[in-house]
Amino acid sequence: MYNLHTHTTRCNHAVGTDREYVEAAIHAGMTVLGFSDHCPQFFPVSDYYSHFRMRPELAEDYVYSLRQLKKEYEKDIKILIGFETEYYPKTFRRFMRFIKPLELDYLIMGQHIVGNEYDFGSYYAGRDCLHREYIKEYVDQVIEGLNTGVFTYLAHPDIVNYEGDIEYYKAQMTRLCKHARKMKLPLEYNILGYTSGKCYPNPIFWRIASEIGCKTVLGFDAHNPLALLNSHAYAECLDELSLYGIEPIRFSEIKIRALPR
Ligand SMILES: [Zn+2]
Ligand SMILES: [Zn+2]
Repeated sequence: MYNLHTHTTRCNHAVGTDREYVEAAIHAGMTVLGFSDHCPQFFPVSDYYSHFRMRPELAEDYVYSLRQLKKEYEKDIKILIGFETEYYPKTFRRFMRFIKPLELDYLIMGQHIVGNEYDFGSYYAGRDCLHREYIKEYVDQVIEGLNTGVFTYLAHPDIVNYEGDIEYYKAQMTRLCKHARKMKLPLEYNILGYTSGKCYPNPIFWRIASEIGCKTVLGFDAHNPLALLNSHAYAECLDELSLYGIEPIRFSEIKIRALPR
C-alpha cells in the first residue's frame, strides 16, 4: 500500500502535523508516502489570492520539514516530496521556475479549475462544469498540461460534475483516457471523493478507463492524518474498481516523471 496524494496544513484546509501523516501512514502499513500539497501559484493580478493553496513563503518550510521526517523515518517508510498543481497555461512557466530550487521528487496534476483561476470565465470543474463547451475545455486543458511531461499522475480525472448529454461526456472522457494511456500515465481513483460523497469517482468514467486499459492508482487525497488509517474505505474502493476489472498498479510500476533541475 502506498499513497502519493497527501496534503498538509499549509494549504489552509487540512489538519494535523506533518509527523502525524507520516506516523499514520506507517501505522497503516504503507511503504511509500508522497506529500503533494496544493502548490503556490503566481497570478499577474495582485488583488487575487487563492485561499486553498500554500503561500509561496511556506514552500521552503514544507520541503525542509518533510526532508527531516524523510531522514528520521527512512527505515520505516519512503517519503516523497511533491506538489499537486493545476495546469494554468499563462502562469505555468513561472510556477516551474519557482519550484526548481525546491528539488521536488514529483508533481501530480489536479485540475480543479478550468481557465486560469483569476481570469474572468474560469470555473470550478467539480461544481460549475455544466455546459458541453466547459467539459471540452477541461479535457483540452488537462491534455495540454499532461503534454508538459512533468506530471507523474492525474488526480481525480473525473472531477467534472457535468450531467448533460451522456454521449458527449463519454466522447470527451474517452479522449482524455486514450491520451493518458498513450502517455502511460496513471489515473487516480480518489478515495476522498468516494468517502465524502462528491460527484467523483464517476462510474461512467471508470467504465471508459477500464475499456481503454488505463493504469490506475488509488489516492487518499488526505487532508487529515486519520484518512490514511481508513482501511475500510481503501478496501471498498478496491472492490469498486474490481467491478470494472481494474486492479491498481503497484508503486514500482509508476514512472515518477523527473522535474527539471
Ligand atoms: Zn485540498
Ligand atoms: Zn488533493
